[in-house]
Amino acid sequence: MTASTASPAYVGRFAPTPSGHLHFGSLVAALASYLDARAVGGRWLLRMEDLDPPREVPGAQAAILDALERYGFEWDGELIRQSERHDAYAQVLDRLFSQGLAYACTCSRKELEAYHGVYPGLCRNLGHAQENAAIRLRVPELSYSFQDRVQGELRQHLGREAGDFVIRRRDGLYAYQLAVVLDDAWQGVTDIVRGADLLDSTPRQLYLQELLGLPQPRYLHVPLIIQPDGNKLGKSYRSPPLTGDQATPLLLRALRTLGQKPPAELEQATPREVLDWGIGHWDATLIPRVATLAEAQLH
Ligand code: GLU
Ligand code: ZN
Repeated sequence: MTASTASPAYVGRFAPTPSGHLHFGSLVAALASYLDARAVGGRWLLRMEDLDPPREVPGAQAAILDALERYGFEWDGELIRQSERHDAYAQVLDRLFSQGLAYACTCSRKELEAYHGVYPGLCRNLGHAQENAAIRLRVPELSYSFQDRVQGELRQHLGREAGDFVIRRRDGLYAYQLAVVLDDAWQGVTDIVRGADLLDSTPRQLYLQELLGLPQPRYLHVPLIIQPDGNKLGKSYRSPPLTGDQATPLLLRALRTLGQKPPAELEQATPREVLDWGIGHWDATLIPRVATLAEAQLH
């Protein structure tokens, strides 16, 4: 293959939000992203998505790093923090605003209640100043679709299903959608492997990439984990924080959740040995679209 047709080397990442501890769902996402990168000799980056200080739990950043280390993960390069990237976000936001691609919105939460999360464009042409207002990106009346490696083809009509979305909140904090797109591109991420709770954010991110002339990464959304009672296991549900002494059994359970088939002997292995087995045997085509967790496995 010549250099011009070669695809860029694989760069993956894990991007936790320090609004709490890592739980089993985040372990599954971290493991999938790590194995998918390492199985092809790729790089694996770590980015702390600390955009929202009011919602940050004190000590969560340190606890997340500590858990990752105890579970045997090693990342490449320096940890990046989004709290140190505000200048980059501000530059892009100002450009979008001055080009008229984004606008200021002064609607209150209460005024928007009736619209169920899809902003109806009330402030689109009112020309509000940026001060004391949220900044929203104008979306086109178009569908965006992508091929997810596990979930298949997904399609969303941005105007009807997402609406003009916030890229900077009224309190001045930058929104996840903007920061994640800028940072993935800035860090050269080629492959995004993350939880299926972010599936319906992806079309908004595709639009931002298109608008900013950024490359589109490949996507793999790992299954949502459904509890026996039918509820999602996730941020809102209080799944227990990952404890260090449970690293090997929880890694094995995470591997099984991802459809991999680790042998029983690994129950005596160190976390690092489990990860090495995972790298050697990784098969992303085995990942199920939805995973159910038995009650007994939660604790
Ligand atoms: N920080 C996000 C979260 O913890 C993940 C962002 C991403 O992987 O795109 O839910
Ligand atoms: Zn408005």
